[in-house]
Amino acid sequence: MPELPEVETVKETLKTRLIGQKIKSVIAPYPNIIKMNLETFKQKVINQSFTDIRRYGKYLFFVLNDYTLVSHLRMEGKYFLRQDLSQTTKHEHVIFELSNGEYLSYHDVRKFGTMELVEKGKEFTLLSVKKLGIEANQKDIDINSIFKKFNKANRPIKSLLLDQSILTGLGNIYVDETLFRAKIHPQELASNLNVAEITDIIENAKIVLDKAIKLGGTTIRTYQSSFGVDGRFQNELKVHTMVNKPCPVCGTKIEKIKVGGRGTYLCPNCQKRKEL
Ligand SMILES: [Zn+2]
Repeated sequence: MPELPEVETVKETLKTRLIGQKIKSVIAPYPNIIKMNLETFKQKVINQSFTDIRRYGKYLFFVLNDYTLVSHLRMEGKYFLRQDLSQTTKHEHVIFELSNGEYLSYHDVRKFGTMELVEKGKEFTLLSVKKLGIEANQKDIDINSIFKKFNKANRPIKSLLLDQSILTGLGNIYVDETLFRAKIHPQELASNLNVAEITDIIENAKIVLDKAIKLGGTTIRTYQSSFGVDGRFQNELKVHTMVNKPCPVCGTKIEKIKVGGRGTYLCPNCQKRKEL
């Protein structure tokens, strides 16, 4: 699944190719990706140009002249630029014909991805975007307001971080890496964490995400970003996927457990549950 650093890589790659291009037509073999009547969608976006591409959490914002196309890649969504339509496959569900003769094509084997169109500047009125917390790698996070929210959450810290509602941008890989660095057990209840521990989580989340963004994300199992851009952060993973390997800090074997149904890696010695 593409996480924040992978989406950032997709954004930066697409930006160099799309800015200034006008949408000439839209072909949608599987229009359910678009959360709007297809004809209305076409009327609004045709003849609009791409003026910017931004990212919030794992959402891509394609900014047009009057509208913003908000795209979530979910499990396996990818964008390709095609020279002609004969290159497209049966997994390409929404295709934008561009003024330079190329095609921006949305590829999604599992069809879980979404595209929503809003007036430019109204991105945060979308329910899906509005419910996201602040970005985990942004500067100057107000620790006390995060502490108050964590304090009320009687749930494992890993599940709380994955649901994106307080901090957004940490998916399965980066939560495991962040909690390892902060020496917090993934099943620790968020409400048991003190201000120092939450500060540690936030500082390490920023280090992990910033480093992963610098390295172009992680190419792992099913996900490879568009254009064959491979991330290199997988070489930096300390616990995720490292079951039975020695912990890089203490040498104890890394364990794999399930937290909220998600495969979770930890060092049982560095990340002990608190005794309350
Ligand atoms: Zn350890």
